[in-house]
Amino acid sequence: MKGLYFDGMLILRDDIEKPEAKEGEALIKILMAAVCNTDKEIIKGYKGFKGVLGHEFVGVVEESSDRNLVGKRVVGEINIGCGKCSFCKAGFKNHCEDREVLGMIGKNGSFAEYITLPNQNIHLVPDNVTDLEAVYVEPLAAALEITEKCHVKPSHKVAIVGDGKLAYMIAQIISLTACDLSIIGKHNEKLDTMKNIAKTMLLSKLDYENYFDIVIDSTGNEQGLIIAQKIVKAMGVIILKSTYNIKAKLSPPDWVVKEITIIGTRCGPVDAALRLFERKLISVDSLAIGFYLLEEYEEALNPQNMKKTIFYISKTLDI
Ligand SMILES: [Zn+2]
Ligand SMILES: [Zn+2]
Repeated sequence: MKGLYFDGMLILRDDIEKPEAKEGEALIKILMAAVCNTDKEIIKGYKGFKGVLGHEFVGVVEESSDRNLVGKRVVGEINIGCGKCSFCKAGFKNHCEDREVLGMIGKNGSFAEYITLPNQNIHLVPDNVTDLEAVYVEPLAAALEITEKCHVKPSHKVAIVGDGKLAYMIAQIISLTACDLSIIGKHNEKLDTMKNIAKTMLLSKLDYENYFDIVIDSTGNEQGLIIAQKIVKAMGVIILKSTYNIKAKLSPPDWVVKEITIIGTRCGPVDAALRLFERKLISVDSLAIGFYLLEEYEEALNPQNMKKTIFYISKTLDI
């Protein structure tokens, strides 16, 4: 089968072995898959992964021991735990030390015609959720994990640092809490798309210090935490969402003096993300989206490409 394979270099191959669904697994034909910042960081060396990239997708189950899944449109949780360790037994397979992660650790990902996933990782997509929305379920779930880990109160002053795709999903979720929300970014045109849900400000004009109760970093790079540690107020919370391949220059003594809580958050509840789309509480309409075929991967994955990149894989371009 065809797939975008990374082995120190990214290449489009057509000789990748089609995966076979083992006991308890499903074979999924990929309709669409989206590029996330983590994919770009893996290409720069984050995680040292070799294999097919990609973990944001919507597909159709072709084979599964669970007859209820066959023929259905689905999305999936990307962490596959060992099922035996204390984390897995407690329901935290995301933290299993022996886990595989789709397109990241030990498991070929969704920039290919087919993937397999355990049946228990699979979630049916409701009929009124579009393919385009479904492909955003994984990042939306990751954004929802913030509210799993931190109580955002309506009275809080909250800042999101970053104005990319993840920031847009986070902003929509956090705005549902009715808090006093600001988005700090570098791109006027992106900030403009978020004006209806938050105050927006350019990083170059940022003059806040020790101001916000909660600061959420979604920059995808080390700058986010550097800005966050300055603008968070004493006893505030910094929430980190960025995964990157560089060691940031930080000032932990400031965290001590200000008694800051730092929370790292990663993957979140997929069911909840699907419910938000089903109830039409989240929109992907304002996102700048670029649609590509796998053959156009060089342009699609170019670090300068600021659009949310979606690969049409088994879906035709006129849909
Ligand atoms: Zn992602
Ligand atoms: Zn485990």
